[in-house]
Amino acid sequence: MTSIRFKLFIFLILVTFSNSAQNVNECGSPFKNCNLGKPGMINVHIVPHTHDDAGWLKTVDQYYYGANTGQQLASVQYVLDTVINELEKDPTKRFVYVEMAFMSRWWKEQDEKMKQLVRVLVNEGRLEFVIGAWVMEDEATPYYNDMIDQQTLGLNFILKEFGKCARPRTAWQIDPFGHSREQGSLFAQFGFDSLFLGRIDYQDSDYRTETKSREMIWQSSANLGEAGRIFTGILPNGYNPPPGFCFDIYCDDDPIMDDEDLDDYNVDEKIKKFLDYTHKQATWYKTKNLIMTMGSDFQYSNAHMWYKNLDKLIHYINKQQENGSDVNIFYSTPACYMYSLNKENVTWPLKYDDFFPYAHRPHAFWTGYFTSRSALKDYVRKTNNYLQIVRQLATFAGLSDDETKNSINLLEKEMGILQHHDAVSGTERQHVANDYSKRLARGINKCLNVIYKAFDHLTSKLFSLNNEPIFMCPLMNISQCIEIEGFERFSLIMYNPLPREVTTWVRLPVIDSNYIVYDFESEDKVQTQISEVYNETKLIPERNSKANYDLVWKSVQRPLGIKLYSVQKTSRKESIIQKSENLNLNNEHLELNFDQNGNLINIKNKHSSVSTPLKQFYCIYESMPGNNSESKFQASGAYVFRPMKNSCMPLEVREYRVQNGPLFDEIHQVYNEWISQTIRLYKGEKNAEFEWQVGPIDVDDKIGKEIVIKFDSDLKSNSLFYTDSNGREILKRKRDYRPTWILNQTESIAGNYYPINTRIFVRDEPGRINRNNALRQLTLVTDRSHGGSSINDGSIEVMLHRRMLNDDALGVSEPLNEKGSDGKGLIIKGNIKVLFDTVENSAALHRELSHQVNNKPLLIFTRLDKNEELKKLSSWTAVKENLPLNLHLLTLMKDYDQESEITNSFLVRLEHFYEKEEDKELSQPVSVDLREYFSKSFNIVGVEELALGANMKVEELNERLKWYSDSELDNLILKHENNEKNKIKRQDSNDNPFLFTLYPMQIRTFRLWYL
Ligand SMILES: [Zn+2]
Repeated sequence: MTSIRFKLFIFLILVTFSNSAQNVNECGSPFKNCNLGKPGMINVHIVPHTHDDAGWLKTVDQYYYGANTGQQLASVQYVLDTVINELEKDPTKRFVYVEMAFMSRWWKEQDEKMKQLVRVLVNEGRLEFVIGAWVMEDEATPYYNDMIDQQTLGLNFILKEFGKCARPRTAWQIDPFGHSREQGSLFAQFGFDSLFLGRIDYQDSDYRTETKSREMIWQSSANLGEAGRIFTGILPNGYNPPPGFCFDIYCDDDPIMDDEDLDDYNVDEKIKKFLDYTHKQATWYKTKNLIMTMGSDFQYSNAHMWYKNLDKLIHYINKQQENGSDVNIFYSTPACYMYSLNKENVTWPLKYDDFFPYAHRPHAFWTGYFTSRSALKDYVRKTNNYLQIVRQLATFAGLSDDETKNSINLLEKEMGILQHHDAVSGTERQHVANDYSKRLARGINKCLNVIYKAFDHLTSKLFSLNNEPIFMCPLMNISQCIEIEGFERFSLIMYNPLPREVTTWVRLPVIDSNYIVYDFESEDKVQTQISEVYNETKLIPERNSKANYDLVWKSVQRPLGIKLYSVQKTSRKESIIQKSENLNLNNEHLELNFDQNGNLINIKNKHSSVSTPLKQFYCIYESMPGNNSESKFQASGAYVFRPMKNSCMPLEVREYRVQNGPLFDEIHQVYNEWISQTIRLYKGEKNAEFEWQVGPIDVDDKIGKEIVIKFDSDLKSNSLFYTDSNGREILKRKRDYRPTWILNQTESIAGNYYPINTRIFVRDEPGRINRNNALRQLTLVTDRSHGGSSINDGSIEVMLHRRMLNDDALGVSEPLNEKGSDGKGLIIKGNIKVLFDTVENSAALHRELSHQVNNKPLLIFTRLDKNEELKKLSSWTAVKENLPLNLHLLTLMKDYDQESEITNSFLVRLEHFYEKEEDKELSQPVSVDLREYFSKSFNIVGVEELALGANMKVEELNERLKWYSDSELDNLILKHENNEKNKIKRQDSNDNPFLFTLYPMQIRTFRLWYL
């Protein structure tokens, strides 16, 4: 007994106080093997690389093996095979690799000898991991939770297989079509020293070339100070080699032919071309260090070809130094290039905004993919919700078996792949999109067993002893739950993944209207209301259900807790639909008024006594067709949004039906044969729900169409509107304007579109109206990513669905024409929540609401409905209380690779989800005692704080290279911030090692040990 206690005591001391004791420099300088060139010369860092899409024209599996050559010749396995072979032969050679989704597959196939060789290459800096995430993710459409997860997955694969010294220092987003500010901020928090980008808007690029500002410091968080800034460089030629120097089997350029006796001798010509290009490139950048990316999509599957020619190039170019050439070229890596920049004694320009939208020529704005494949985007978002729940349940239930671990890991990997810049972006071919969906479904199904086991563990083997299965209903959005359709009695188990009490509305598809619902815990009968499943939904060809109604009730969910309901069919009608002639939707907070034709015309917030005329409708853009041969013939396609006209065709309500009831009022509106919506106002809710259904988009007239939902108010928005960045910070947008260069606007609609991951709003801008009036804000909270804009003052539009008959000639070579199961065109349903309040009140509303939309309770069904163990489950919670209102439990997952003999561990990420000055109270710093918070489930004995990727201690972030901005003022501000930070640190490390304070938009990552 004494010895165990002693051990524990030592352990406690170790885990709580070891952080600073650990020598973080045991790897030596990560740049120790870098060639930094020759002083005074133009030093050209030749960076051999490959760009391996995790699915695009072929599926990710086909790309790995090189199958399906009819679509594209590309094969990742041979890239890694042949590159390693070349690197082994010559210690001067370098290569960089990005996608751990491919690397991990290849790794699995290697024997120990090969693994050892690769570890040596990595250690010596000859093979360098850049980004090191699972994939090179899209930046416009992923949700930040997914971005953090897929980066963490890759970084921890590297840590496990290659050790801490292999940690990537450079991020490398060379192909994504525009860049989000949150992405930059996350990279900084993961500990990256720099970020390199391949694509920025052509006007931005020209401006930066002219002003030598292609390399900069990006202050990519408005809240985090230095912790949210990253050195960022724009590569000279996308990610391709200089023109004429592509030496891959997929390229047309001539090799270097250096036998003077042969007719085709081309060394002189190649030298001249290369030196000319180098001198031109040197005028674009601030220092004499240059980078040249030698590689492109799926290149190096015959690495010898590239390296043999690069060897010759290096030899002949450097030989020119004997004739006075000032150009020195050598094999290098992005980290070494970055380090050589860092060593220069120069300051850099600052950037505060983001890199959206991206256009590569006047009529080609890549703003269509913000919405492309809207159903896939929804599926990805919902799967994140599910993954977080599975992780939480497995942690609280203490599941540590291999099957659980592998199931969760499978889903994490599939979600990782879905973040790729041709996956969730919707820019892949149809067969690849199908493969992505299949992957998600496979991961989801596998994890149902984890949920089953978790429930079994939380009870005395409730399900396994009774030999009872559990069911999920993944198609409830189309009012289908065939899994329980025939049951007369069943139970619904709900689990709330949010760390606070939430109210949700359960909508259960049922065949008949006669059901009674009991709260399992109190045994009280619950008030229900039914609503009709409308014909538009019933006719969805993928739907296979006899349900005629949705049975609806209000459910209050405990934080991280379970709630159970028993549902029973009765003989008498319990609930009837009350048709109403009253054309208002009303509750305690909001009033929505409609004209006699059923069109929304006004909204009022009763609490804040603000109102606005609000015309809401659907509008159709006709897609530009074209052969893409010139900018003016650019077609709208999977990437590009280009409407034919600078306005859309508005639709008005054709038919409508109103229903009033004790729990909610709703109006169902039909706009045409393929657009309908239900506006719903639940009692007590501060938002109105707009459930939209669009499709099959009619293209019988041979014209592609892009459908938006529009809200026109009288808010004095003064050309401004606001959109979120990957679900976190809000960016201010101004029509026909870019903060960092003078925009020549060439597309008045598409050029004003921005990504919306979770919300968009307009508000009364100060100074434009009477000071005595409260400033109003109209906010839309979405359930998935979309493109959207404010084309006129007071107006918001969000693109919901698009279907085209032309390709936009950016590689996918297939029109975005989702046909659905009957081949007639895909129907998509979704949900937008509308908030209308004062500016002052709005942040608290949309911040909380967005978390509720993205972290809905899990719904599991079982036939068991009478059982003491079930009763026990019905009151189960993991924690005693709510987390503070401004804290989100972003991650809670078991730490499978870290288990020790005497303790277990799990990972927690806490997020302060308010920005500075957004809300009087909720924007304040907040503290939490982690040991106390989890004390109902765990006896926590140790804590260590980690960097965002959970692959290193948080202190190691201090090793990030320092960069100095052009602005003296900025450098002063930073100094001040650092002083403040040190004060905070001292506060943090007071008596209680488990007490942590979070500041606006801060995410802190912890490993907790428990007995
Ligand atoms: Zn790509």
